[in-house]
Amino acid sequence: MTSSLGSWRSTAELLPLNSTIVTLSAPQSGTSGTRAASIRLIMAIVVHPSRIHAYGCYTTEPIQKAATVIEYTGPRLTVDEADTLYENSPRTYLFGLEDGKQVIDGDGLAAFINHSCDPNCEPDEINGRVFIFAIRDIKAGEELTYDYNLYDGELDDVAPCSCRSQNCRRSMYSETEIARRPKLKSRKRKLLR
Ligand SMILES: [Zn+2]
Repeated sequence: MTSSLGSWRSTAELLPLNSTIVTLSAPQSGTSGTRAASIRLIMAIVVHPSRIHAYGCYTTEPIQKAATVIEYTGPRLTVDEADTLYENSPRTYLFGLEDGKQVIDGDGLAAFINHSCDPNCEPDEINGRVFIFAIRDIKAGEELTYDYNLYDGELDDVAPCSCRSQNCRRSMYSETEIARRPKLKSRKRKLLR
């Protein structure tokens, strides 16, 4: 899995995320092999104000489970390049690739998709490209979401979640990261003494 850093950059004030330097990642149990042969993108996606956060992506057409919804497009940067470029940026749209060395600097509609702890989509990396797939049938008018599984954020930022789902974990960090962060904090405190 990845170990880079990322987050969300804003060129406008439309932004899905709050300020931390974090990285989005695809789940480790990706099904890339079966998906690679059948990519056909859904073209009925619009950006609209969201009840989860700021603006989000909505579909104007029903989407079937397993359909390829949209590609997460953007230039590829190394983690170091992204660190330098966005060092002082409160928000970025970086998506960490599985090699742990590169991130996609999101520049398309997919960068507007909000996080949910009970999402209707999931990202998957296929040959270095990231696609967002429907993981259940989605009705016309629904907001598209996926689980950001954030990692490598600032320890003082909990990346609060406002998805309102019943199983909301109150943070956009991955479960692994949520479990790891208290240990990192404790180590940092010790180092500071
Ligand atoms: Zn949530």
